[in-house]
Amino acid sequence: MKEPPVNATEKPAINAATTLDDPRWAAVAARDASADGSFFYAVKTTGVYCRPSCASRLARLEHVSFFDSCDAAEAAGFRPCRRCKPDQMSLAALHAAKVTEACRMIEQSVHLPTLAELAQLAGLSHYHFHRLFKQITGLTPRQYAQAHRTRRVHDALTQSESVTAAVYQAGFNASSRFYEKSDAVLGMTPSAYRAGGIGTAIRFAIGQCSLGAILVAQSPRGICAILLGDDPEELLRDLQDRFPRAEFIGGDANYEKVVATVVGFVEAPGIGLDLPLDIRGTAFQQRVWEALRTIPAGATATYTEIARRIGAPDAVRAVAGACAANPLAVAIPCHRVVRLDGSLSGYRWGIARKCALLEREAEQ
Ligand SMILES: [Zn+2]
Repeated sequence: MKEPPVNATEKPAINAATTLDDPRWAAVAARDASADGSFFYAVKTTGVYCRPSCASRLARLEHVSFFDSCDAAEAAGFRPCRRCKPDQMSLAALHAAKVTEACRMIEQSVHLPTLAELAQLAGLSHYHFHRLFKQITGLTPRQYAQAHRTRRVHDALTQSESVTAAVYQAGFNASSRFYEKSDAVLGMTPSAYRAGGIGTAIRFAIGQCSLGAILVAQSPRGICAILLGDDPEELLRDLQDRFPRAEFIGGDANYEKVVATVVGFVEAPGIGLDLPLDIRGTAFQQRVWEALRTIPAGATATYTEIARRIGAPDAVRAVAGACAANPLAVAIPCHRVVRLDGSLSGYRWGIARKCALLEREAEQ
């Protein structure tokens, strides 16, 4: 049983008793920050209203009344406390709002904004912003951007008839990305570099096949890359690393047919790929890749056999290295190379894909 306040006059005693029974008073007495935003309390003697967590001295409960909103408290003649600033956002809400704003900025940007840009937008230090973002979202800004883009590519691919359009809708502007990095890499702008006569125009598109994401790229000479993977953005980075001086262009309608042809070939390698290939590599890599292309679908060869075939029987490790550097998945069938004991060993695009390809070819 609660005792009535000792020195209360009759009317405040009623108020004090009801206040005491009010669970909101317990929150105020405990300065419970989790109650912030759900109500406000006003103190008759000071004429101010506060949020429950206000650190100011606890008011006598007979002077306290509760309000659902700042407006209601102000309509009753109270003004906001200057200490807890109840009419402004709480720190937690402010942080959440800043991180939300950063998320929207990342989602709407073609390129990942720098940490400096995001921190500046939030008005926080780099360190504080990064920690806050991770704390609230569970991801770093970079991880958040990657997750968002991967999701957008998948979403766009189901709606878009053109894979290139989907890639561009998703904000993968390879050409711009290259420009972004190129100053540091080349020490001059790409246009200045190209004025020196170097650079190749490469068309590319990313789609989905039964083996996951697939990137198909074509130079004026022929198909120059077929890359497989889980993450479309990783495939693009791989393409850029392989052709650091190229200018990447989105494919047009004609190019979609090329991509469809390549995807059809990857789904059924036995039918062959009737497109010119632009195979670039060292002289040694080229010899290995030529040898690989003589292994028919449904057959396999060992690294040792390939080394012997190219007249370099001691270069087994280098053969494996050339297989790993293969830029044309399936078209240069490095998946048909196995260990001496028949085990699959490694595959540039994942052992599960190698296994799936070999099974598929064995059935054909
Ligand atoms: Zn206050």
